[in-house]
Amino acid sequence: MSGCIECVKAIPVFSACEIQEGDHIVFAGTVYDHHAIVESKLPDKRFEIIEASNTFFGVVTGVFFGKKAIIGKSTRLFNFATQNIRVIAYRVRPFTRKETVQRARNFVEGDGTSGKYDYDLLDNNCEHFATYCVTGRKFSIQVTKFRLTSSLFWKSGFIGISDESIRNEKQHEHGIICKQCFEINKLLFDVNFMPIKKAADVQRGNIIRYSYWNLWHDAVILDIKDVNESHVTCYIAHYAFCGILSHRTIIRDELRVYFDGSFKLLEYGPPDYNVYDIENVIERASGRLGEQQFMLFSNDSSHFSRWCKLKREKATYDDRL
Ligand SMILES: [Zn+2]
Repeated sequence: MSGCIECVKAIPVFSACEIQEGDHIVFAGTVYDHHAIVESKLPDKRFEIIEASNTFFGVVTGVFFGKKAIIGKSTRLFNFATQNIRVIAYRVRPFTRKETVQRARNFVEGDGTSGKYDYDLLDNNCEHFATYCVTGRKFSIQVTKFRLTSSLFWKSGFIGISDESIRNEKQHEHGIICKQCFEINKLLFDVNFMPIKKAADVQRGNIIRYSYWNLWHDAVILDIKDVNESHVTCYIAHYAFCGILSHRTIIRDELRVYFDGSFKLLEYGPPDYNVYDIENVIERASGRLGEQQFMLFSNDSSHFSRWCKLKREKATYDDRL
């Protein structure tokens, strides 16, 4: 497996059913992100997880004294609204989910020595433990991604990386992502968009694109309020800008969609795209109203809309369809 930052990608999850046993998950801790392998799913959003855990004190002293971390199993109750939970999608999985769980378990149930793990903040931390269980290799997606993205930033500037399509091309050009990931992204970002010219183009469950605060912005249509000769008034769910001092929030908003060509319909559909049916799209969008986990390039208006519409953001990632 290469170090391509797209081959291994963090996908935000918002419900327990999106997490499987054997998944590598990430969740926000008080000081830093936790990485763990899901050993088993329990009822009521609880999970048994295995992680290389260390306290903040342990990490700090570990840096100086080479402290060993404990590989431990624990039961966690997740709050999907606040904990910024992500599943790491691996395009290539050398070990199955079952094998991944067993590899993690071996550390816990081993002969007593394997429960220890040489913990090192930069080279052998909880993320390395999780990637090791899934792939057999220890690496940190965060460190790799940070290094590569910052080098691209210095080469191309902000404009170069703010457009998804251009960013994809630049990343490929600079060898940051592999050809396969480039093609997958291209399919995702280069979706046809059709200028909306009539009321029939505006339907519940559709994804539309329009100019919002001078940037391209995507939204999910929740409902139609009324239809006029020149426009349709509809209700949308989107990542709204709530003022420079506020967090961006997913809200239900009223929007007039004019038939002057400035609003576009994103043509996600079979056979290229595996989409949810209309009611599911609306349910998924409604379920995230109030969320304030906006992140440019990884959880913005286009990511939100695709998450609502497409079954797995990338159908080609491992066995998640
Ligand atoms: Zn790749």
